[in-house]
Amino acid sequence: MVHETGYYDLLGVSPKASPEEIKKAYRKLALKYHPDKNPSEGERFKLISQAYEVLSDPKKRDLYDQGGEQAIKEGGMSGGTSPMDMFNMFFGGGGRMQRERKGKNVVHQLSVSLEEMYNGSTRKLGLQKNVICEKCDGYGGKKGTLEKCSSCKGRGVHVKVQQVGPGMIQQIQSMCPDCQGQGEKFNSKDRCKNCNGHKVERKKKILEVHIDKGMKDGQKITFHGEGDQEPGSEPGDVIIVLDQKEHPVFKREDDNLIMKMNIKLVEALCGFKKTIETLDNRTLIISSQPGEVIKHNEIKCVQNEGMPIYRDPYEKGQLIIRFEVEFPENHWLPEHLMYQLERLLPAKQDVMITEDMEEVDLCEVDLQSQQKNYSGEAYEEDNEGPRGGVQCQTQ
Ligand SMILES: [Zn+2]
Ligand SMILES: [Zn+2]
Repeated sequence: MVHETGYYDLLGVSPKASPEEIKKAYRKLALKYHPDKNPSEGERFKLISQAYEVLSDPKKRDLYDQGGEQAIKEGGMSGGTSPMDMFNMFFGGGGRMQRERKGKNVVHQLSVSLEEMYNGSTRKLGLQKNVICEKCDGYGGKKGTLEKCSSCKGRGVHVKVQQVGPGMIQQIQSMCPDCQGQGEKFNSKDRCKNCNGHKVERKKKILEVHIDKGMKDGQKITFHGEGDQEPGSEPGDVIIVLDQKEHPVFKREDDNLIMKMNIKLVEALCGFKKTIETLDNRTLIISSQPGEVIKHNEIKCVQNEGMPIYRDPYEKGQLIIRFEVEFPENHWLPEHLMYQLERLLPAKQDVMITEDMEEVDLCEVDLQSQQKNYSGEAYEEDNEGPRGGVQCQTQ
């Protein structure tokens, strides 16, 4: 029984969500609310990260389901990982050591169709990025003309002393706006006109993203060194995360494709031939064996018609078909023909009726009014517990 759903609500998933669904929900939201993309949503980013930290760990999730946030806090299970570390771990931002020498990685999500993952495709992605200024080679101005900043006397910071109470003094440090904390700056006539002394310029870069056959939702494609450039450090990577769009017919599960197929009762009993459009526009014909009965919710598969295997695309998974049998409507057959049908079908079982049995009405179930009845009624605390079974709608 789930008591608290706050963490699930934050990720927008149901308390019954699978680990995969939770992962996917975090991926989408973390990218959406990352401070790089949405600077005003820092708090939201933090909360999403907390929720994911708990729900992605089976032990913590169990504890949360039983006792809510309180149990997590009491169990000393909360807040081990900072939101940014969580993000970097999830999206593969490299180790801490590496990050110091390297510029920041940039993560983008790319929405792709199941057809593209089946057939493979190439997508062009236009990105804005910082590149070292061509005019000044990232120096920011004419060589040898860098001067000590007069505003901060070369310290790069301004220090303000404030009295905050009797005998209490607070020092506030802020970055020098004139030299951007560098302590040095160019005189306006020596400053590079192209980058305005910023050493880098914003440029558009087109990346070609190759989606290989069989790639999966959430798979990452890394462009090494394509992140923002900055003088004196190695540029970070651009990481593209694939986000598979829902498909109207097929659901993917690993390398298998799963679909639902409706068949009529006559087809279930007497056999059928049906067609399926594949993701590469072929048409498959499937049929039942003579004499075979397909039951409602029965599952069958077609070998080698699932998704291509990544890096081994001539191999494919299975196509799994779940049959739903459509029964005819009430009174579809005139009563006088009913007994002919009955003669053809397997015999029914007669029941022995005796005097001490009770005849009752069979009626439609109305689940909503049933629930209302439960919550409205007070049960006595006895050992029987709430009465189970299905109650009929009351007139
Ligand atoms: Zn300064
Ligand atoms: Zn420049």
